[in-house]
This record gives sequence, structure tokens and C-alpha cells, in this order.
Amino acid sequence: MKVSFKELGLVNTREMFAKAVKGGYAIPAFNFNNMEQLQAIIQAAAETKSPVILQVSKGARNYANQTLLRYMAQGAVEYAKELGWKKPQIVLHLDHGDSYELCKSCVDFGFSSVMIDASSLPYEENVKLTRKVVNYAHKHDVTVEAELGVLAGVEDEVSSAVSHYTKPEEVIDFVKKTKCDSLAISIGTSHGAYKFTPEQCTRDPKTGKLVPPPLAFDVLKAVEKKLPGFPIVLHGSSSVPQEYVDMCNQYGGQLPNAIGIPEEQLRKAAKSAVCKINIDSDSRLAMTAAVRKHLAENPSHFDPRQYLKPAREEMKKMYIHKIINVLGSNGKAR
Ligand SMILES: [Zn+2]
Repeated sequence: MKVSFKELGLVNTREMFAKAVKGGYAIPAFNFNNMEQLQAIIQAAAETKSPVILQVSKGARNYANQTLLRYMAQGAVEYAKELGWKKPQIVLHLDHGDSYELCKSCVDFGFSSVMIDASSLPYEENVKLTRKVVNYAHKHDVTVEAELGVLAGVEDEVSSAVSHYTKPEEVIDFVKKTKCDSLAISIGTSHGAYKFTPEQCTRDPKTGKLVPPPLAFDVLKAVEKKLPGFPIVLHGSSSVPQEYVDMCNQYGGQLPNAIGIPEEQLRKAAKSAVCKINIDSDSRLAMTAAVRKHLAENPSHFDPRQYLKPAREEMKKMYIHKIINVLGSNGKAR
């Protein structure tokens, strides 16, 4: 049975992105695949009155079941209202759609936004597939994110050993031909909790800590110049907070040299045409760190609510921090 996202109380990204580009902030795109993550995201967005994008990856659909996730997103809208958020601006977005069929099924299923990631295909094939998805999605007022350039790292089923920066000379032709609504570009962010090897980093002489290489802001600037005001998306933008890595390792985890994108770089990006920043690993780390700590300190506990409650609180704290201190999207959806 087909359903429109509008019946579910969701919104697409069109107006949201236009405002974000103009206002110099970015919308958080948080991945979810379970109830506690969703609760934490909605509580954080409702409290800060921030527009929010709920992202579902192919892996999440396989893990949690697409029907269940769809109804959870619908429930999230009602939950947000119950929390006192009068006009919640919530997008349900497919992250890294890899085929026309998958994107179409999400459009038919009530998603308000889809990503078609054909960035690993040759340029002309990327254009062709993206255009096909846009044609179908726009008939239903669903917005489409496309990608040019390849990110390194692993995210669910998406993986690549090496990154290729987006070529600024391609973006005008690509956007014109595909009519996509936003464009994910590759400027040095990367999927997962191991974004850089220690060899790619330098060491801070004072603290001895690894400092990752800076993002390619020259590429971002060149893209912005070619496409003034066009919404740009950054994937793989977790900062991999050291406190969570340390907490995991302290309580039995093994995450040596996990490293992310420094928040000051993301803050700088959020002020540009970058209007959507994807954060997934930080939520995984916050949850796992809190669960590990709780179970280590309370070995007799076996009720999942006992360890998932602090995990949910830790994620919520992290989401609020990102919204206020990194993206600047607080107060933009009253
Ligand atoms: Zn991604």
C-alpha cells in the first residue's frame, strides 16, 4: 500500500535546506535503527527546536525491518508533538540507496527524502541513475540527494579503501542533468570510527594526541562557487569523541586509534553551503560506552532498561551538543 510522507506528518528537505544555506547552519542527519536512538534524537530535537533528519541505511532496514522503521518514524512525529514541539520538522531519509528499486520503494513507503548513491559508477551512469530516481521522487514531492566523488571508510554495506575528492568542474553539469535537490561531496570526511590511519595524522607536540589531516576546504569553496546557494551534504562527519573511545577501552572495549573529524572543522563547514551533516558513529560510540560502563559497574543487572537508560541519556546529551555547538540548528524549527 502506497502512502505519502505528508500523511505521516513528515516534511521533505527543500525548504529546510534553503533556510539552512541562507542562515549559515546545517541540519543534523542522525542514523537510527532502534527505539532508544530514536527517542534520544527526538528528545534532543524537540528540546532544542531543531529540524532533524532521521536516516535509515540499507543495513538498518535489514536489521530492524523497513515496515517497523517507517511506523517508528511516524510515531516519532506524534511523540515530538507530545513533548511540546508544536510543529516538528522531521525528515525520514534513505541513506545510501543503491538502486532505483530501493529508492522507489522508500518513496512509496512514506520516506520524504532519498539518497541515490551511484558515486562508484562511471560519471554518465551516475547521471542516468540519479536522473531516473529524481523523476520518480519528484512526482511525489520527495527530495533527492545524490553523490559525486567517493568517500573512504566503511558504513554498513558502503565501503571504499580510498577516497576521491569531488571534481568541482563536474558539479554544474551533474546538477543540471540530474535535477537532484542536494549533493553529497567528498572533501576528506570518511565513514566509520577509523577515519584516518595514524600515518595520515600528525602528532600534537603538547598532548601527544593524533591530529587528523584537515578537510579540503578549497574543494568545498570551488564547488560553492560553481553552484551558489545549492545545498551540499557531508557524509562521515562523526568526530569520534575521545571520551567515548576512552570509556569503551576502560571498560573492556578495544578501539585503538579510533579517530574522527575535529568539531571545529565541521563548525566551519556548517557555516558554508553545507546544510546537512551526517553523524552515525558518534551515536554508536556514546551508546556502547554507556552500556559498557553500566554493565562493568553493575554486574548483577540483566534488565535491558537498566543499561539502555544511561545509554539513551548519553546519546541525547551528544545530540544536543552537536545541534547547539557544531551545527547551529537550534531554534530553527519552532
Ligand atoms: Zn554516508
